[in-house]
Amino acid sequence: MYRTRLDALARRSLLRRLRTIESAPGAEVDLEGQRVLLFSSNNYLDLATHPQVTEAAISAIRRYGVGAGASRLVSGNLRPHRELEERLAAFKRVEAALVFTTGYQANLGLIPTLAEERAVIYADRLCHASLIDACRLCEISLRIYRHRDHAHLSQLLQKGHSPALVVTDGVFSMDGDLAPLPDLYKAVEQSDATLVIDDAHGTGVMGKTGRGTVEHYGLEGRPIVQMGTLSKALGGLGGFVAGSRDLIDYLVNRARPFIYTTALPPALAAAAIAALEVIAAEPERRARLWSLRHRLHEGVRQLGFDTLDSQSPIIPLLVGETDTALALSEALLAHGIYAPAIRPPTIPAGTSRIRMSVTAGHRPEQIDYALEALSKICASDPRLQERLTAGREAGRTRGRKARSPFP
Ligand code: PMP
Repeated sequence: MYRTRLDALARRSLLRRLRTIESAPGAEVDLEGQRVLLFSSNNYLDLATHPQVTEAAISAIRRYGVGAGASRLVSGNLRPHRELEERLAAFKRVEAALVFTTGYQANLGLIPTLAEERAVIYADRLCHASLIDACRLCEISLRIYRHRDHAHLSQLLQKGHSPALVVTDGVFSMDGDLAPLPDLYKAVEQSDATLVIDDAHGTGVMGKTGRGTVEHYGLEGRPIVQMGTLSKALGGLGGFVAGSRDLIDYLVNRARPFIYTTALPPALAAAAIAALEVIAAEPERRARLWSLRHRLHEGVRQLGFDTLDSQSPIIPLLVGETDTALALSEALLAHGIYAPAIRPPTIPAGTSRIRMSVTAGHRPEQIDYALEALSKICASDPRLQERLTAGREAGRTRGRKARSPFP
């Protein structure tokens, strides 16, 4: 039965398979025997291999061992967890923070807990899968507002029941655009709703000092609930919620993905503490990231690619159809560039793309090499070029029309 289903996925260019990397995450990696330039990592500040971060993890392993041994409420709550939570609260400039074992679990714990006292959830159509799954666990109704459309949200809020919960990504993971937080905040303020931001891709990247999308928009101090992850700019693993002391204490009592799972390994908590220290001490990393991001973004735009409304180191190259996205990704790999195709159900049908992401670990000449490769691929394959142009146009329209994020 599974073989038939797998064959059906393959016929629609939707089959996924794991590829194995045999080196540390960086600008260049060893991918199944091929040295390639990596353009698909979320290791934005190149901290996964930063000596201060790896040393912190190693010394925590020596002191605490590899595993926490139990859930946080049983006996897995170790000193690095507590210290990390204090650091995260200070970083996000809020009262308190709570660390989960992954960002995915942080969303699964946060949203249903907040939903307990609410009548309805409104979610941006392009929210991350973990937010969607979290909403599915809630026993209240879920309404979808058009992507980044605060006017649509306001209309729904005015017509709907209250109090409501509004959930959005800060930086959208597959489009790289930003939620219009000031407008969303205004809409929720006027209707007794609560705004929750998944800032997985904003933390460490956005804002003058890397505190995230809330800092970027100057909204610090507002009662916005923030979720983040330690697995992207911070280079490790783990998720967190940052908010009021009361919310955090309540989550400790209610959030099932916090209560019923083993605590984050202490070494990863120690690594995240070190990563926060590096973020404060080495602002030039963020400056480098943004300058490289600008170089790649300008370059692909000049080549004629539609990058949707990317405003972050996530740069989608809209392609349209899945088979064209796969063909472009394979052609890039033949030039030694690894940037996988992103296909449904991760994104709406007809909007397949190559999602390129830049890190502070790239060098300008590596960006230029990628641009040259893209240019050569398009020039040498007029059919691909044609399919790209047709798919891009159709993709824009279909992306706008697609209404539900549920696959
Ligand atoms: N939210 C968003 C927007 C993400 O992109 C991701 C990871 N892809 C997550 C949450 C989940 O975070 P983690 O990988 O730490 O589980």
